[in-house]
Amino acid sequence: MITTADEELLRRAIAIAAHAVTLGDAPYGSLLAGPDGTILAEAHNTVRRDDDISAHPELKLARWAARELDPETARRTTMYTSCQPCGMCAGGIVRSGLGRVVYALATEQLVELNPASGAWPTVTQDGPALFDEARVPVEAYYRA
Ligand SMILES: [Zn+2]
Repeated sequence: MITTADEELLRRAIAIAAHAVTLGDAPYGSLLAGPDGTILAEAHNTVRRDDDISAHPELKLARWAARELDPETARRTTMYTSCQPCGMCAGGIVRSGLGRVVYALATEQLVELNPASGAWPTVTQDGPALFDEARVPVEAYYRA
């Protein structure tokens, strides 16, 4: 359920996205808020500026949270973001231990606005293979 307080923070994420456009960056913005609504960190998309495919705001904030927050604090943190996190960012958000994500545009809505946003190619993945060889470094690390 999205509350009025959520909508206020979501409007801030949209404002970050709008500001990104004025800087020449892609129109995506996000923030992290604590349980009382205090904004802990903000970010916008800098993929072009940084020439970095991973420079989505959601992933930048997930990495920040994992580095700067203890797990209990991270769990009580909510990410507000102008668009639904992509698969890359969703994985980072889960790994960072954030408690909740609130987004404005769903992926399907973004694709309606910009069909190129939906043009994610699939990648062939072959495996598993070489189990007896690949297990050696894993077992060496986790036995230590
Ligand atoms: Zn993303």
